[in-house]
Amino acid sequence: MSQSIPEEVRRLMRPSAAALEPYDPAFSEVRVNLSANENTYGMPADVAANVEGALVRTATNRYPAPLADELRRELAAWHGVSPERVIVGNGGDELLFNLVLAFGGAGHVLVSAPPTFSVYRLYAELVETEVQDVPRDSETFAPDVDALLEAARTASLVVVTSPNNPTGDLFPLEATRRLCAACPGVVLIDEAYIEFAHAGASAKALLAECGNLVVLHTLSKAFCLAGARIGYLVGPSSVMAALAAVRQPYSVNVLSQAAALAVVRGRASFEPVIEKIKAERARLLEGCRARADRRVRAWPSEANFVLVRVPRAHEVRERLRDEHSILVRDFSSAPGLKDCLRITVGTPDENDAVLDALAQLTREERAQ
Ligand code: PMP
Repeated sequence: MSQSIPEEVRRLMRPSAAALEPYDPAFSEVRVNLSANENTYGMPADVAANVEGALVRTATNRYPAPLADELRRELAAWHGVSPERVIVGNGGDELLFNLVLAFGGAGHVLVSAPPTFSVYRLYAELVETEVQDVPRDSETFAPDVDALLEAARTASLVVVTSPNNPTGDLFPLEATRRLCAACPGVVLIDEAYIEFAHAGASAKALLAECGNLVVLHTLSKAFCLAGARIGYLVGPSSVMAALAAVRQPYSVNVLSQAAALAVVRGRASFEPVIEKIKAERARLLEGCRARADRRVRAWPSEANFVLVRVPRAHEVRERLRDEHSILVRDFSSAPGLKDCLRITVGTPDENDAVLDALAQLTREERAQ
């Protein structure tokens, strides 16, 4: 819940901060929470046991290794790069903030392709970066690659999300290659949801050939560590050095580093869960299309959520919460997302609950 800032305090703030619309995850206590794209299956038992052991063994009286050296080495080995090409953050969010801190600011342009993750604009504007939007197609949400290439020519930072949040589509690798060639600055492909996409979809494959490409991954989604806040970037060591210079030295705490190390070492155990989520995604998508109403539209997704358009979405979201104790994310008043709700793919029971409730609500709406 965001608090309002009294006028006398607002006057003291830097103008870009005073003008902010704070990020509001719109959270409330419910039975079925499908609003934040977490992994609702929980951690596989073998990994959970290792995490627990690692936490018990971790002393908290000393400061953490600033660059999370052991975790960084493990992540680097996983992705086949040297450790200097990896940086760990307190969630992907911290790394996004550090990117605009290092490469944004007055006189710098960040290019973005909305509708997308709202945090890019929020952080960019906080540090007085000009944001240049290249809107996606209003029906298919396909990015306008030619317009992105044009805008990228004068950008310090281009951010494209793949799979995109909340539309679920991938950004083609060929377009990333062209974007890197066109942009004199840094090109960030935010792959927070890449584990749910088909094999070979990651822009990681282009790191060797594109010297200004940075890829963001997180352990918050597929790997059940949203609460521990661990994200990381893979990119050129020069960019990682710039980010290391602006970061708060101890932002990634010892407990999170220990938990993340156990999760990364046990990553193979997540594969069956990820496959299950992908299968449930197909079922949720089909269910939204079939069991609800003809007026309901659902877009294909390569992530762990689906975007649906339903008549009177805002009201549907409130009734899902208040009458069924199901929380989904409301984008109905966001630009370009009229009447859209984003539903995280949950367990079979959670997905059944949301499908049944949606079918009932749309039936009632129709009867009115
Ligand atoms: N990028 C995208 C596209 C996201 O949706 C999110 C989380 N909502 C993040 C980055 C940041 O995730 P985290 O800070 O939990 O790593």
